[in-house]
Amino acid sequence: MNTSNNVLNMDEIRGQFPILHQQIEGHPLVYLDNAATTQKPQAVIQAITDFYTQCNANVHRGAHHLSDEATRRYEKARDTVANFIHAHDRKEVIWTSGTTEGINIIANGMAQRLQSGDEVLVTEMEHHANLVTWQQACLRSGATLKIAPIHDNGTLDTEAFAALLSQKTKMVALPHVSNALGTVNPVKELTALSKEQGALVLIDGAQSIAHGNVNVSDIGCDFYVFSGHKLFGPTGIGVLWGKEKVLQDWPVWQTGGEMIAEVTYESSTWGELPNRLEAGTPNIAGAIALAAAIDWFTSLDLNAVQAHEQALMASALKQAQAFEGLTIIGNAANKMGVLSFILQGCHPADIGFLLDRQGIAIRTGDHCAQPLMRRLNLPGTARASFSVYNTLEEVDALFIALKKVQNMLA
Ligand code: PLP
Repeated sequence: MNTSNNVLNMDEIRGQFPILHQQIEGHPLVYLDNAATTQKPQAVIQAITDFYTQCNANVHRGAHHLSDEATRRYEKARDTVANFIHAHDRKEVIWTSGTTEGINIIANGMAQRLQSGDEVLVTEMEHHANLVTWQQACLRSGATLKIAPIHDNGTLDTEAFAALLSQKTKMVALPHVSNALGTVNPVKELTALSKEQGALVLIDGAQSIAHGNVNVSDIGCDFYVFSGHKLFGPTGIGVLWGKEKVLQDWPVWQTGGEMIAEVTYESSTWGELPNRLEAGTPNIAGAIALAAAIDWFTSLDLNAVQAHEQALMASALKQAQAFEGLTIIGNAANKMGVLSFILQGCHPADIGFLLDRQGIAIRTGDHCAQPLMRRLNLPGTARASFSVYNTLEEVDALFIALKKVQNMLA
């Protein structure tokens, strides 16, 4: 198998993903739906098994060995996340069920603080998770939702973004990487612009977290959210990172066990971070397995990972540009992980179906970004998305199969 550089051992990497070694419809599986969810290395599967076979117990409250061990692994997982994203303090890492819940925790708290005359700024390229949630928070609070436009090539119109910022802007929420276009936004610069106006900034890291170094301290944002399942971890676990000084008195999200300080029949007071935002029994196995995913990922040379993924993207773009009848949707110079396209005369759903018949898994449709599709005047796109375990041969296989699809549908 070819490697795109000298550092990653692709056979070894792929050998750690049991799911990749199967035939679909008589063809070797080519999994190119990584923006939807990534596959899991054996280390992650093993971490879940180990938890349930060695130390399953509830955390923080047991007076016995199993609970102590579960708590140790669970809290160590928090350290792993904090180090991975360069948080200042482990207290800033809040476990959630995923990106969506992280955004909801912040939007719910914000809705209690926003009022008529305030503004929330998002972009035209939002996933529904970061659009509908802020739209509803604005509707509840009387604040106004502003939408920063994109250029036709799928990049953010940063001048228009800056022009929409003012002292009225209380919250800016935008994706680090667009799931539908692959555009990488200059989040550090956009955060700095937003901070000049005193706005809080949330970065939706769902599509950036599995592609290299994310440094929340360097970005300077207030909140960064992501899902474990897009980072080689399990579903049902995610992270809300927030600056301690912002999160420490953030309106509580859910109430119940674990998040309180003192309770009487009449009233309650809330605990400290991170517990105050983590009511109830958490997804213990999920947190531990997410840490195993991060350990696995960071055992790779992340510069080599980025170089490999850039090589995959370069090959995909080159073949897409040469493919007659294919239009790439999203032509930002800085793209990560995602190739969205349409094929003249072929409905995206048919493309997905006929690629699947050849063992190739992609995503088709609106990618949870209906307003963006409307803005682009498209019913949807076909989207191939790449991860570290994909190979240049798989990119070639996509275009060979796509040619057959085109011939079949022509
Ligand atoms: N934001 C972006 C950019 C996404 O791509 C996704 C999922 O595809 C989400 C948010 C929502 O993630 P989840 O469904 O894991 O909460």
